[in-house]
Amino acid sequence: MIEKLSCSDCESVQDCEYINQAEETEMKGISINYIAEFYKCLSCGNEFYTYGMQDRNIDSILRVYLSKMGIDSLNMNRRQLIDAAKLAGNR
Ligand SMILES: [Zn+2]
Repeated sequence: MIEKLSCSDCESVQDCEYINQAEETEMKGISINYIAEFYKCLSCGNEFYTYGMQDRNIDSILRVYLSKMGIDSLNMNRRQLIDAAKLAGNR
């Protein structure tokens, strides 16, 4: 999916591709595999997030982290996810 978006590196509107791919990160020493959403500028290769995308990526990471800690996060909202992840790391 290609969209016209403002690229901060090009400082102009460019064709940007919507990307949704598996990524690996680490949270408090635990390896987290999740699906990351981002845009890639087809002109300069810059990868960036919109505000909502970044929130969804963080939520995905927190949900995987909590599930690895044995905590069911299915019905948690964003605030509860963040609080639960903080507490889980302090055990
Ligand atoms: Zn660019």
